Amino acid sequence: MNSLMKKHGGDAGVNVSTAYMMCQELMISDLLEYAAHVYGRKEIITRRLEGDTHRYSYKEALQRSKKLANALTNLGVKIGDRVGTMAWNTYRHFECYYGISGMGAICHTINPRLFIEQIDYIIHHAETSILLLDACFVPLIEPIASHLEGIKAYIVLIDEDKMPSTSLPNALCYEALMADSSEEYVWPQLSSDTPASLCYTSGTTGNPKGVLYTHRSTILHAYASRNPDALNVSSDSVVMPVVPMYHVCAWGIPYIAPMAGATLVLPGSGMESAQLYELVTLASVDLMLGVPTIWLRFIDYLRSHNLGVPTVHTIAVGGAAAPKSLVEELDKQYGVYLLPIWGMTETSPLATLGAKTHEVASMSTQARYAVQVSAGKPLFGIEVSILDERKRKLPHDGNSKGFLFVRGPWVLNRYYKLEKADAFFRDDQDRLWFDTGDIAVIDEKGYVSIVDRAKDMIKSGGEWISSIDLENTAVGHPEIKEACVIGARHPKWEERPLLFIVKQPHAAIDKEQVYQYLSDRLVKWWLPDDVIFLTALPHTATGKLQKKVLRDRYENYFTKPVLESEV
Ligand code: AMP
Repeated sequence: MNSLMKKHGGDAGVNVSTAYMMCQELMISDLLEYAAHVYGRKEIITRRLEGDTHRYSYKEALQRSKKLANALTNLGVKIGDRVGTMAWNTYRHFECYYGISGMGAICHTINPRLFIEQIDYIIHHAETSILLLDACFVPLIEPIASHLEGIKAYIVLIDEDKMPSTSLPNALCYEALMADSSEEYVWPQLSSDTPASLCYTSGTTGNPKGVLYTHRSTILHAYASRNPDALNVSSDSVVMPVVPMYHVCAWGIPYIAPMAGATLVLPGSGMESAQLYELVTLASVDLMLGVPTIWLRFIDYLRSHNLGVPTVHTIAVGGAAAPKSLVEELDKQYGVYLLPIWGMTETSPLATLGAKTHEVASMSTQARYAVQVSAGKPLFGIEVSILDERKRKLPHDGNSKGFLFVRGPWVLNRYYKLEKADAFFRDDQDRLWFDTGDIAVIDEKGYVSIVDRAKDMIKSGGEWISSIDLENTAVGHPEIKEACVIGARHPKWEERPLLFIVKQPHAAIDKEQVYQYLSDRLVKWWLPDDVIFLTALPHTATGKLQKKVLRDRYENYFTKPVLESEV
């Protein structure tokens, strides 16, 4: 009796040592082969960095990805090599995703908004051998190129006649390489567990850490995410990721769209509202994805120009909690469903979503909004658990707050080239869990609500205050553009909230009005002990509030106030 039979308690009468179904490896190249053969005429529409709009079919995308695989093979790239990209959302970057991973190399997407020291660090850490980059990033890399001894060639993603002159050693033009390469290429059939892409976290402390996705994790993530109760992407969809392809693979959309045969709309570097609006209208986009700040700006633009987006039915929002004011305005003014997502670089990233199921659609407005400001429910494959400080399981009762742990086939089991990390935990059944660093509540129906990052929660007199809830309440005020809350040390209460506000342009709101607005919506002990108006807030490379900068400066504000001149 083999081990599988033993585990399940005996011989069920079949020889389980022989599989009766075909065992086919899951390869990223098959996604594009499928789209090219089954949805060959479906388009990828790009706003090019050169300024014009480019349209081509999945069939052409496949041909050019094969050309890239040939070009990289000629440059000496082998299975397992790390090939870097530093590029916006364009068809050329899409070809890199498929050409590089398809040939068995690792597509190492590099976030250009990281500090240059971090970029230098991750290129060394990943031992990146070739870098494909948009021309706009050439000046960023030139000053450090002399340190990057491992990079054998730089390939600039640009038309031949626009190739910039550069001091980068061995700089090649992408389109010249394309012109010289054959589209005859047979993708290697490798194990599903072959690494396919690499993305570094944009950590605010310490060095960035690498997350190495496999072909299998990428495809399973795409299967789960395109489902009706998830992003609901079909061959009728027109999808525009407004999340950059240089961070967590644009939430998997470059894989999900070809799997579904959906039209893919890529905004290039045009992430500003006017450019997005133009592209939404041109391509009749119906699903967009991005972080809350993008959409707060976008609806400001729609409002001030008296515009609507009739083709859009869903905006998927993740990376940070969506404020209720955003949910409400999208619903009431634009008829758009804000679909909440929670995930991390470490979870590929999609893990929980709040889809507009029939049940959700038929809820009362306020109950529906409550779902939309939560993180939604886990996708099939993802398990979630909340634990206390001693790693004891807490109930899913909608009340208990705990450290959120996750597991699943597209959650990392270790960081790249980092043998030890505190973030992993084995339960009493020897199952591995990843500590997300978030504090969450889970209710009886399985809805997860993120209370805060564990390190951002404010501990006031033994009780917790969620900085996220405070911030999202504050930005509900029409004159407040952005808000950030930190816990500052307090002689009596241990910590008390300190609120920073950036006003909308020309707004006249003062401290008293802020307090009036918040006291109508929050319990008294949650009200911040002070409000500071700033002209801008610090952000990380992925657009999140960089609280560490404010904490370093203001954590002693209530014990030793910062001088007026320092504010
Ligand atoms: P990153 O790896 O840069 O994508 O950051 C992941 C972190 O973003 C998570 O651990 C959360 O703290 C935060 N985050 C992502 N989605 C949400 C959400 N829907 N609500 C609240 N926080 C979120």
